[in-house]
Amino acid sequence: MTLTMENQTRLESWNNYCDDFVNHLRNSKAVLALLGAGLSASSGISTYQGSGSTWQNHLVRDLATKSRFERDPVLVWEYYRHRQAEILSGVPNAGHFALAGLATIKPDFLTITQNVDDLSQRARHPPELLVPIHGSLLDLHCTNTSCAFSRHHNSHDPHLHPQPSPPTPSCPLCTSLLRPSITRFGDPLPPSHLSTVDSWFSAHPTIDLMLVIGCACTVSPAADYIDKAKEKGARIAVFNVEFGRQALCLGQEDWFFEGDAGVMVPLLLGKVVG
Ligand SMILES: [Zn+2]
Repeated sequence: MTLTMENQTRLESWNNYCDDFVNHLRNSKAVLALLGAGLSASSGISTYQGSGSTWQNHLVRDLATKSRFERDPVLVWEYYRHRQAEILSGVPNAGHFALAGLATIKPDFLTITQNVDDLSQRARHPPELLVPIHGSLLDLHCTNTSCAFSRHHNSHDPHLHPQPSPPTPSCPLCTSLLRPSITRFGDPLPPSHLSTVDSWFSAHPTIDLMLVIGCACTVSPAADYIDKAKEKGARIAVFNVEFGRQALCLGQEDWFFEGDAGVMVPLLLGKVVG
């Protein structure tokens, strides 16, 4: 089969577009990545995006609040266990592994993930170059503020089983209710994570490239990081299934790669990571 002239021109144009990105990535030192639910969706994790998202007829935006947790911990823990079980049944996709590989060859590469599913961690992304800014659903801590109990990567906890008993997990030290170490709607972001990102921005007077992957970019401060990177000269590469809000601000020097992030990210990054 032969390509028509028009299709050949399009193919060459697409190849040049990709080559331009790959060459810039190869030559970039200071690189920032912002990950969102679209990357996890490729691993079969529900995104629950949009203000109208529901779980068993309950608004997710309502379940994921401090006040609902305090009012109805059994229901909210049932929701969290559903999410934990889904996360534990998912595995990192080729996009997570490509990003982890990029981190091993670029020491000035920082990744901010808004996902609470531990998939980047399970892809062995170097922890010192990864900021899980919304926490992890697999980490637990005690709701008693004078108790220091916490448990990291709670993948073997009996409370994760579908019909646990008791219905809510208790602290082994003080018997208070445990909760996942995630940022809920209305919670402040962990100061240590914000400080890590701010320090990285301060340490880099110029930024070469920012990767925005599977991210709706409607939540601050994650969305503000794009503006901050652009102010420091970064070219922006957006990977997403649709041309959303974050793509509207792209300039001629930037890129938009439409499609499944779990496919597009390794396709492009693989040319540098190997
Ligand atoms: Zn406790």
